[in-house]
Amino acid sequence: MRGARFQKANRGNTSVATGVLRPLQLLCDSALTGDYILSLEGTGGAFKVFTIASTNGPPLLVPGQTVTNGQPVTFITPSPTRVFIEALAPGMGTVTLRFQGTGNALGINHQDTLNIAALALDLQPVTTDTTPLDLAYTPCAIEEDGTAQFRIGVKPDAFPDTQIVWTDYSGRVSFPYGNTGRTVTVRGDSEGPFRLGIDIEGFYALPYVQGDVLKPTNTVDVTVWIVRDDNGQNAAIEEYEVHDLIAGLNRIYRQPVMKFQVQNNTVFYTNRTEWLDMDYSDSASLTELMNCSYGTLGLELYFIRSLTKGSDWMGGVESLYGIVLTTANGCTAKTVGHEVGHTCNLQDACEDFPGIPLAVEGEIREEWMPKDWGGGYYPPGMGQAELLQQLLMYGFVAPGEPMGDIPAGRIYGLGYEGDMDDPNNWHKGLLKVGLEDINRQPFHR
Ligand SMILES: [Zn+2]
Repeated sequence: MRGARFQKANRGNTSVATGVLRPLQLLCDSALTGDYILSLEGTGGAFKVFTIASTNGPPLLVPGQTVTNGQPVTFITPSPTRVFIEALAPGMGTVTLRFQGTGNALGINHQDTLNIAALALDLQPVTTDTTPLDLAYTPCAIEEDGTAQFRIGVKPDAFPDTQIVWTDYSGRVSFPYGNTGRTVTVRGDSEGPFRLGIDIEGFYALPYVQGDVLKPTNTVDVTVWIVRDDNGQNAAIEEYEVHDLIAGLNRIYRQPVMKFQVQNNTVFYTNRTEWLDMDYSDSASLTELMNCSYGTLGLELYFIRSLTKGSDWMGGVESLYGIVLTTANGCTAKTVGHEVGHTCNLQDACEDFPGIPLAVEGEIREEWMPKDWGGGYYPPGMGQAELLQQLLMYGFVAPGEPMGDIPAGRIYGLGYEGDMDDPNNWHKGLLKVGLEDINRQPFHR
């Protein structure tokens, strides 16, 4: 067919990442006399059309404009001709190429249209965003026969969910409520690694997520001790708060498919006023406290009011014998989850640390998060420091923070082995903060 149309590859719908210049082939080869009219409609500021592959000069068109026969620039000869669409900001638009007959061909008109979308994607395998049920989006693992929610952000909002298609390349997961949309429910069907690709109509690069379908481990028993004063008053924490913390712990550890329960649903008390407020340097007392129980084959949590290290307040401390948690400044499930992470073999990750002359600087990159890259659709310009702050194992935990992420693999950051007070033990590198290194059946001695 001759006339006025777009090259076949460009027909129908196309999507462009913001910041990308995409060529568009125009075929203007009618045998009749007439005019070729190119117009652009759509979101203001979202697109520009250029006649050359450069965004330096003045554009041929911006949304709302029309040119006839390419005037003042001749874009239609020789045919085929290429123009270039720049996507500047999220938006939707339409490019129309029309032939309008003149002279003997007067009244003969035809046209071709192309729907264009300028998209900004946001796919973060490492994120602290949670679902309405307070579970992690896009977790590192799904329980076999269980489900999890995975999410990709696609701007503009007007871009239809039906053109966002999730595909499983492993055969180990399925989509019980459909595989299209910004948020999908993924079911773990059989144990093993999985990889999901997200196909967006017209989009060249394929965002992806990888993870594991896991069978649950044995539920971890947690022995809980609460310190009170000598008279059995002023408990460091109330029992109902402990149960809330364990519920929160279970929401966090749904990421690596682990479960915790208070042993026999019963907490223990010890009445020692001197243990309500402790000093980190008094290791003898801390050890004595953590020996209230031993050999439980599960975890041991000891709640006190405060723990200080010099002038610093500490949210908790973990050892082979148990976890001491403090409540004076509030105790959150994230704090508990962080300390439990240490028992599970994970390490602290920081971007910098007082007195340590090493700092993590620069933008995120694939080699700094090899299993959690997802194609690179984190927010533009995001720093590695910002990414580290999303982790459950981020070294500074403050009350009231959102749930921390347990990534699939190791993440580059500043960490230490052994005694953190020895500056020689600190180094930068890929740190054990994710599923890859987790011991899913932890216990204290
Ligand atoms: Zn820590």
